[in-house]
Amino acid sequence: MPANHPVKDDILQRYLSRTPASRELDGRAKRSLPGGDTRWATYYQPYPAYMVAGEGCVLTDADGNRYLDFQNNYTSLVHGHAHPDITAAIQRQAPRSIVYGAPAEQQFELADLITARLPGVEQLRFTNSGTEANMMAMRAARAFTGKPIIIKMDGGYHGSHDMAEVNITPDLSGGRLPVPRVEADGVPDSVLQAAAVARFNDLESVEAILKANAGQVAAIITEPLMNTAGIIVPDEGFLAGLRDLADRYGVLLIFDEVVTMRLHQGGYQGKTGVIPDLTALGKLIGGGLPIGAFGGRAEIMSLYDPARPNGFHHSGTFNGNPLTMAAGIASVNALTPEAIAAINQLGATLRQGMDEAFAEVGIRGHTTGEGSLAYVHWTAEQITSAADVVRWKQRAAELPRLLHLELLNRGVFAANRGLFNLSTPMTGEEIGRALDAFCAALFTLKPYVADNAGHLLT
Ligand code: PMP
Repeated sequence: MPANHPVKDDILQRYLSRTPASRELDGRAKRSLPGGDTRWATYYQPYPAYMVAGEGCVLTDADGNRYLDFQNNYTSLVHGHAHPDITAAIQRQAPRSIVYGAPAEQQFELADLITARLPGVEQLRFTNSGTEANMMAMRAARAFTGKPIIIKMDGGYHGSHDMAEVNITPDLSGGRLPVPRVEADGVPDSVLQAAAVARFNDLESVEAILKANAGQVAAIITEPLMNTAGIIVPDEGFLAGLRDLADRYGVLLIFDEVVTMRLHQGGYQGKTGVIPDLTALGKLIGGGLPIGAFGGRAEIMSLYDPARPNGFHHSGTFNGNPLTMAAGIASVNALTPEAIAAINQLGATLRQGMDEAFAEVGIRGHTTGEGSLAYVHWTAEQITSAADVVRWKQRAAELPRLLHLELLNRGVFAANRGLFNLSTPMTGEEIGRALDAFCAALFTLKPYVADNAGHLLT
């Protein structure tokens, strides 16, 4: 990151002087890992802080700096780090072997817990990531309906499998319908033959695609609240409208609840009463270990019965391994309605406090979010689409990354794109400390805002 503004230089210098051990580790990592990292979402310049321990909502880096963790491995650590029940479950299971290559009771125990919560999930199958879960849900929809096309939302993220690498970054051309585009290098353009892209909160765009592709659509897939895109909350009636369109046009509705399951005991589907045919899950259901699951109506999922002639195929060496199952059972059990209500309430406090901090410092900015999720936007204008999020970010110069670094300097670890999520060990005390750091960071950034993004000063 070239330093060319005194504020930026100061933030960078303080980061460098706090994190020499991370810098050294980053240098070593670069030998065998390209750029020193193995995951796109955890890298940031000049180098990421290397963590060595986590307990509750506190992470400690290689230099002994402590951070309040608002990143929580991108929402998978809903109970923070080293939750006693989850740690004990892993310790109980590990000496009994971590994977048997055979079914184990823990598999249906966790499955039962999930089906008891999510009204749309009568049966499910485990995978090892949310990517696989979504890939399988989409494939299940195609197999069940015999149709090829899946409609996804512009800006929607459903993992990194080929069929989902379409318009993860929203289309900014402003046409009536988003232009479908393959996102990742190496994904063949042929995926576009089986993909169509609509706009979230725009039922007309969904119906236009359904009409134009009559008889060819297998399913509509969406997060019920678009998290990765920048937390776009569904308008009143949007999800019910999707359900209605799916029914009228004879296509399936898939909800990706990898993230949103944390928001309500019954997931977003339980909260809204809009029940999808298929659901993709991940993150929190593994208690921090790698996991995914896809499930839905028994009529569809029963086709995975291995005893069934011509049943659907699904395999995976680590599917349902007892170690992950044990951690997942402990995690789901600990996520009680009271625990969800508590972090959702703290999330509201965080969002309100951040909005007030923007006003106090005199910078146009605000948060979107719901429950235990918050996202910082560098505009006072209402955010209604994934495209809005990107457009405003493009006008914010380096503010998102400088805020991220300055918050690290002040002991707050958030996702570098501006996403904050809470964990159950948090209390009002930690939210208060995070808000103090956030407000102080905005004051630090204000001269940079004046010089590089003057439109944001009030
Ligand atoms: N769907 C959503 C909504 C996600 O947020 C993510 C992960 N960020 C995934 C799918 C993919 O999950 P995984 O990283 O476990 O493959």
